[in-house]
Amino acid sequence: MNLDNPYILLTPGPLSTSPTVRQAMLRDWCTWDDDYNLGIVTPIREGLVKLATQIAPEQYTAVLMQGSGTFSVEAMIGSTVPRGGKLLVLANGEYGNRLGRIAITLGIETLIHDSGELAPPELAKLDAALAADPSIGHVVVVHNETTTGMLNPLAEIARIVKGHGRIFLVDSMSAFGGIPLDVAELGIDFLVSSANKCIQGVPGFGFVIARISELENSKDRSRSVSLDLYDQWQGMEKGKGKWRFTSPTHVVRAFAQAMKELDEEGGVAARFARYTENQRRLVVGMERLGFRCILPHELHSPIITGFHDPESSEYDFKKFYDLLKEKGFVIYPGKVTGIDSFRIGTIGHVFPEDIDRLILAIESARYWVSGF
Ligand SMILES: *Cc1c(COP(=O)(O)O)cnc(C)c1O
Repeated sequence: MNLDNPYILLTPGPLSTSPTVRQAMLRDWCTWDDDYNLGIVTPIREGLVKLATQIAPEQYTAVLMQGSGTFSVEAMIGSTVPRGGKLLVLANGEYGNRLGRIAITLGIETLIHDSGELAPPELAKLDAALAADPSIGHVVVVHNETTTGMLNPLAEIARIVKGHGRIFLVDSMSAFGGIPLDVAELGIDFLVSSANKCIQGVPGFGFVIARISELENSKDRSRSVSLDLYDQWQGMEKGKGKWRFTSPTHVVRAFAQAMKELDEEGGVAARFARYTENQRRLVVGMERLGFRCILPHELHSPIITGFHDPESSEYDFKKFYDLLKEKGFVIYPGKVTGIDSFRIGTIGHVFPEDIDRLILAIESARYWVSGF
């Protein structure tokens, strides 16, 4: 059986996985057997806590949740903000806006500080809002805003939120496992990510790293049965790794392999170094070809990079996309309002040599997509 892919995904999830991660899916598992619950699910939960904090792992737990990453975001918000509670959302892109939409849909009183897609959150405004309004109990922000690739200043935001004694929620979907952090050091209470981002598993579930003392306060707060984080946690604790409802067994088994491969690579620090080198080569190469980044370099994460479309009127994204796909690379359309752009992700089973090959492919595609 040929396990090679016809192209690599330079998209920020799902992303390219290793052949060994895909291979790990090729058997079935019984969801009430110890082989699965104690042998696979429990070590994953413990391993995720270790990835999230070295200084206080005993204060945190990991709850796995079926669905794509957004389901876990919705579980986190809908299960932690109490009835009558108020949530402040820091938004600077599509995913930040989604946090706000989730909260409003759930009927949560929501205050949105939108700093626009090209600017980081306004820290002084956050500080003032928390000082002025003690009813804001929870604050949520996206770690790496995948719309632009902006790395939001998590430590500074955490200092303000925790300085005011509020609960701090983070959507670290596209950063966790690829950008070093310690949830206990920062004082993060809940953090979400999913199987198919920097840990390099396949899509099918998300997870929430939760401060146990705060999760205990979340009993009966959920606005949903299937997305009840507290109940899911209790189920996994009492059932020793058992999921309340059908678990995505093959995806979970692949994730265990992905965790092992993250460890073998040298952990989060080594993965961060690889992604950083991928992104550095991408930007150097693209700028050499005359492309311009949307964000200033200093606001950038190593996860994904947005580029302005070439100015030529003959440029056509679809044509560019198809030519690159033929050469083995899939890129991503842009998402920034009012700017014609495209994005290239640098995470997944993708290496600096792949980026060098991509730059060569773009250089020759450029010749065929005439005019730039
Ligand atoms: C990928 C991503 C999500 C979740 O997306 P799903 O499509 O639901 O998996 C949420 N937030 C951010 C920042 C992301 O990058």
